Formats: sequence, C-alpha cells, structure tokens
Amino acid sequence: MELRQNNYYSSLLEEAVNSISSLPGVGRKTALRHCLHLLRLPKENVDHFAQSIADYRNNICFCPKCNMIADEPLSCSFCNDISRDRTKICVVESVRDVISIEATGQYHGLYHILGGVISPINGIGPGELSIDLLVSRVSGEDNGVFSGEDLPQETEIIFALSSDVEGETTAFYIYRRLEDRPYLKFTTLARGLGFGDDLEYADEITLGRSIAARCPFGK
Ligand SMILES: [Zn+2]
Repeated sequence: MELRQNNYYSSLLEEAVNSISSLPGVGRKTALRHCLHLLRLPKENVDHFAQSIADYRNNICFCPKCNMIADEPLSCSFCNDISRDRTKICVVESVRDVISIEATGQYHGLYHILGGVISPINGIGPGELSIDLLVSRVSGEDNGVFSGEDLPQETEIIFALSSDVEGETTAFYIYRRLEDRPYLKFTTLARGLGFGDDLEYADEITLGRSIAARCPFGK
C-alpha cells in the first residue's frame, strides 16, 4: 500500500491542501480546514470559487502607462479617470500600496507601480522594475504608449515607498534619473509616528521626520 506522507487518506485532498497552503500565510493545518469546509459547500459554489481565481489569473491586464491592474488592457481606473489630478504621480511598489493609499481618501492623483524595489540581495536591479516606463512617462515620449499631449508638464513625483534602505535606494535612484527635469518636483511621504507609538521608543529618524513634517493641530 502506498504510504501517504501527510496521512490525508486521499490524494485528492492532499493535492488540494498542497495548492491552498502554497498561498502566503496559509499553513497546512489551515489549508486542511479550508479544504474540509469546501466539502460542505454546494458544488456550484466551489466551481465558482475555482473559476473566479482562474479567470482572475488568466485574464487580468496591466495598464501600459502605470502598471495598475485592470480588466481590459486600456481600462485603467486611474489613467482613464479625467477627474483625477494629472499633475501628481505617486510612485509605489505594488498594487496593494495603491489600494492602501486609496483607502485613505486623501489622494486624488495618478500612480506608478514599480513592481518591487531595488534589492541587490534579492537580485532585483533597476532593470527588473518599471522605472524606464516612468522615465518615458514623464518625458512625454511618443513611444506608442504615451503621446505628447500627456506630459511633460509641471508634475509632482511622490515617493510612497517603504522606509527602509531598499525603499530609500529606489527613490534616490529614480530621483537621480529625473532630477534634471525642471518641470518635476519630488516629494516623499511624511514619516510620522505610528498611531499608538510611544515617543520614547521611536527611532531618531522617525522622530526627526515627524518633527520636520509636523502638521497643524486641531481643525
Ligand atoms: Zn494606468
């Protein structure tokens, strides 16, 4: 008799557990619980569940201008929205960052998704990121994606990258590539104290930036 390493008593169940536990943050015990739960659902629901994931993975598109996800190649919710402020481009690492910033309701400009940050340790150089796309975007190059009518114009480039060495390196690299363009202005997120942080435990960089970027209190 074949020895089942994880003792799931079914190779079908084992395969499903393998698939679900391949997701980040999902261990095998949790995956097993999800799989057994699926057995209690109507088959149509499980078909829909599987189909929606396959459709998402197979059909998702990326905006050729900003790299945001979209249902159609040219249907970007941001680049196509004429009500958004086109003089601001917020540079972020991932789609998740766009969703987080949008959830604040504080920003109404455009985005540019890099697809990561420069990280020599992980073998990620500038060429692996969509930095060239950003450079041609703000240069108004007519390369089939951008037409001269888009840019250049007075534009604020907002670096919203993580506040670690890799994020800072990436922002500085992009800044050096673009700094000679007089129509560009560069800003970065104010690095404040997290809500509930104790001043006593804040590092001096965080606290220094919090003081430098202080904002009016009240009203
Ligand atoms: Zn876009």
